[in-house]
Amino acid sequence: MDKDRMDDLARDPRFIPGIYNYCDRWCERCAFTSRCMNYAMGEEEKLAIIGIERSMAAWATLLRRFPDHEDAIFSLGTLKRLLRQVETAFPNARAFQHPGFDTIA
Ligand code: SF4
Repeated sequence: MDKDRMDDLARDPRFIPGIYNYCDRWCERCAFTSRCMNYAMGEEEKLAIIGIERSMAAWATLLRRFPDHEDAIFSLGTLKRLLRQVETAFPNARAFQHPGFDTIA
């Protein structure tokens, strides 16, 4: 997450400043997820990973369907690099649990 986006979130009046410093990090059971900046950040990072993975699956499907167009379907390599960068920048993003992403809401 870039600094500008973080600053935007820090100024967002929806969030209770520093609430995440006084909790047990059991977000799945927390009544304040909609008021927590830490939760919103985890949500965005996880969404980025899910989006990249779904795009990779779609491009892989196209590649299986049109194997002779491999040169035109170059996005897979780009997406793999992007996924590695996101996972490096946010190593805990996959551990983020969100109803609807990881469990039945
Ligand atoms: S959403 Fe998670 S990190 Fe935020 S206050 Fe609740 S338990 Fe803590």
